[in-house]
Amino acid sequence: MIQIPARRGKATRLLQGQSVKVINTHGQQVVDTWAFALADITEFMSMEHTRIAIGRIIPAVGDALVTNRRRPILRLVEDNSGGIHDTLVAACDRWRYELLGCATYHDNCTDNLAAALAELGLSPPETPSPLNLFMNIPVIDGNRIDVLPPVSTPGSFVTLRAEMDCIVALSACPQDMVPINGLAMTPTEAHFGIV
Ligand SMILES: [Zn+2]
Repeated sequence: MIQIPARRGKATRLLQGQSVKVINTHGQQVVDTWAFALADITEFMSMEHTRIAIGRIIPAVGDALVTNRRRPILRLVEDNSGGIHDTLVAACDRWRYELLGCATYHDNCTDNLAAALAELGLSPPETPSPLNLFMNIPVIDGNRIDVLPPVSTPGSFVTLRAEMDCIVALSACPQDMVPINGLAMTPTEAHFGIV
């Protein structure tokens, strides 16, 4: 298994038919997840296109996650984490932390995506809205959203199978100002493997 260090990102190539297993090592860590088509990274996994394709806001086992050209790029094939993930909320960025009152630079998932792709010699065409694995954003009364700790447990995991050759990027979210990574508000490392 490969470590996603706390507060950092990693990217990997995934060929069609291969799967990436994302492990919530300590159980309370959100992992922002992106996928870009290997042939053309301006085609990427899109939450807004996926929600209409699957008819719900949280993908379930068997669901295909589609691109901004409405083609399946990943499929959720395994999930023992409790099934609570988020497709609504943008990746954190330096401005999110400024708004929360952070006066200095704060690690963030947007910069982690750019750094992870840079290690592969690429740069993201934009920061797509991520699949926020393990992130618990319930919709209340059909309209409001809340920000709650993950329901996942240590060692639980999600497996995503590539439906096309792609690059998958993962960020261990550095959020430590709201309890999205658990009530301790302490970001931790996570792990992934190609299976
Ligand atoms: Zn984040």
